Amino acid sequence: MDVVNNKCNKNGSSIKSPRSKLQMWRISSLITVHVYILFHFLCWYVFNMKIWGKTAMMGVPSLLALHLNAAAIMVIIIILSVPFYGRAFCGWACHLRGAIEFSDWVMRKLKLSGYEKIARKNILLNTRFRWLFRSILFSVLLLPVSLYWIKLKHNIYFNIQTPSPLADLPGYDNLLFSANAPFNMSLAVNGFTLLAFVIPFLVAIFIVFTMSFVFNYFYGQGAFCRILCPYTVMLVPFMNRTPWQKKITRIADCTGCRACSKNCPQGIDVSREIYHYKGKVINNECIKCYHCIDACSYGVLKDLRQGASPQLKPLKEYERTPWLSSNKHLQVIEPLDTVTDFVSIFFAIVCGSITSRLGGFWFYVGCIGGFIAFRKIACFFLPKSNLEKKVKHCHKSEPLHSLKTEDFDPL
Ligand code: SF4
Ligand code: SF4
Ligand code: SF4
Repeated sequence: MDVVNNKCNKNGSSIKSPRSKLQMWRISSLITVHVYILFHFLCWYVFNMKIWGKTAMMGVPSLLALHLNAAAIMVIIIILSVPFYGRAFCGWACHLRGAIEFSDWVMRKLKLSGYEKIARKNILLNTRFRWLFRSILFSVLLLPVSLYWIKLKHNIYFNIQTPSPLADLPGYDNLLFSANAPFNMSLAVNGFTLLAFVIPFLVAIFIVFTMSFVFNYFYGQGAFCRILCPYTVMLVPFMNRTPWQKKITRIADCTGCRACSKNCPQGIDVSREIYHYKGKVINNECIKCYHCIDACSYGVLKDLRQGASPQLKPLKEYERTPWLSSNKHLQVIEPLDTVTDFVSIFFAIVCGSITSRLGGFWFYVGCIGGFIAFRKIACFFLPKSNLEKKVKHCHKSEPLHSLKTEDFDPL
């Protein structure tokens, strides 16, 4: 989160500035989401106030199964928000994004060597198959619904009180893992004890830790959002569809200093986007975190529906291609060759399928673990010279950072 404190001076290099009001609002919003979750748990399990059920992304399969519950209603609201606000849900209201940014903040504060190097230069590692990866994960998520439809077992209903807030989480149904897991642990055998609460809580923290701290540490900030989150597949088709969608917009002459591009946690080349797309950031990866707005000390950027201001002072022309990641218009580094990169995706999915037997969210633990481990091993065998070529290629069109391969361990 410290990235937001980097502003550009007149030469485009970074200087420190106080956190903006926009960021304070955004971080408050992400904290409020967690307070809401805690409040919901207390209402349901302590005060026995079961007014509405769990509001989470499990509403996606519920919706497709025509189960109109609290989670499905939440998903409908999120989808309806995209044509107006883009992926503002991601930047402002996703609890996992809160955990991901918190882990980024903690690791920067701890000055973890390894993470510090990639965080300071906003180095974002990625796979060229991220859309395939996300799509397969989304299909896996919808597999039970597909089977439901194949068997034509219709059970259409409306019940806002379902599912319970613990549904799908460790500890649901008084079991540590899912009912079909190869091994299990019953909780609260002799009445409810503190331990019966603490153990599943620690397991849930471990899962979130893997999705946030571990993935961030190896792949740069927001790795889960940039590489793996299956819900992007659901949100992106609604992006850039209407003239009412707010987008990051140029409202004054841009100097081309590129501080905005250097500070985007999603790897979007903001200055290039506003140059090419009529002053607008149209990239589907934009999550409305506003780090680019904060980074621009010239006040050039704003989140607007209205058209952009014309660029009066001509800028040196940006090449349309290659972008740093040529087919994705992103400033991310894809260090592996195509075949190894592709195989790593499938290895990760196989690992995720194995761990998913412990329960839905365990899929991510296996998937992330397999992804990182496979690529670490592959990188060990990758000739260093190939790697250097890739990093140079990534940065040849517009050198953003004084990046050297010896600066970081690329996988
Ligand atoms: S990409 Fe996924 S995890 Fe990241 S903020 Fe959006 S919904 Fe949440
Ligand atoms: S919008 Fe232009 S002036 Fe502002 S940070 Fe980006 S490149 Fe610099
Ligand atoms: S373009 Fe700006 S608002 Fe969008 S993700 Fe990047 S920094 Fe955040």
